[in-house]
Amino acid sequence: MYLADEAWPDLEAYFETESLALVPLGSTEQHGPALPEATDHLIAEAFAREAADRTGVLCTPTVNVGVSSHHRQFHGTMWVDAPVFRDYVESFSRNLTYHGIDRLVYVNAHGGNISHLREVGRRLHEDGTAYTIEWMWNDSIPDLVEELFDQPGPHGGPKETSVIQFLRPELVHDDRLEEARDDGFSDVFEESYLRNGSRTFYDAIDNTENGVLGDQTDASAEKGEQLFEAATEQLVELIEWLRARDAEELQPALHV
Ligand SMILES: [Zn+2]
Repeated sequence: MYLADEAWPDLEAYFETESLALVPLGSTEQHGPALPEATDHLIAEAFAREAADRTGVLCTPTVNVGVSSHHRQFHGTMWVDAPVFRDYVESFSRNLTYHGIDRLVYVNAHGGNISHLREVGRRLHEDGTAYTIEWMWNDSIPDLVEELFDQPGPHGGPKETSVIQFLRPELVHDDRLEEARDDGFSDVFEESYLRNGSRTFYDAIDNTENGVLGDQTDASAEKGEQLFEAATEQLVELIEWLRARDAEELQPALHV
């Protein structure tokens, strides 16, 4: 059920029996020479809408612009400052509880949003307003990601390329995948990030000239479909778990 398509009497019926909502969140930011800037919000929206269809829970409109200032050197990247993002997400989440929502899943597809969504979830939980969790699609299927790709890349790699090839193939410049790999940062290991244990950089451009990491030539729509199906199953299970919780269980524990 997609909130924005419904008339209020139909939403009234939903809120009579359900108290869960999914909120898709992504970014509008550079994803290298081959992928659209919409990559993250297209992925988040597709997972949230598919899981909502399979479970019958409510899906809200998508938050398309996130915390992306670390991609600002590349044309077109949009971002909001982190405190503004947190306050905005907190505000509409809090306001959904006015209608009877008491549990939310932030269906997220942008790494830069994670810590901020966790912080918002903490605020809503601490004062007993709602139980809110962040879900990042690729974190739910680490084994499959590892099995499918040598170099999945944390940003704009074959993992995201495959999912967009599956969801919106017309938006992928397949003829630029080699260029994406060769001009980017394709040999990514944890050590390449750290100097004496410290992360010494702030922006994507400090590591990759064209904005992306990983080996994009390893992508395919078939792999995208596999990733999409596997992560959707994970999200559906998470929703069923959350749906089955008693409201009291989701409140913070009392002081000992
Ligand atoms: Zn992305």
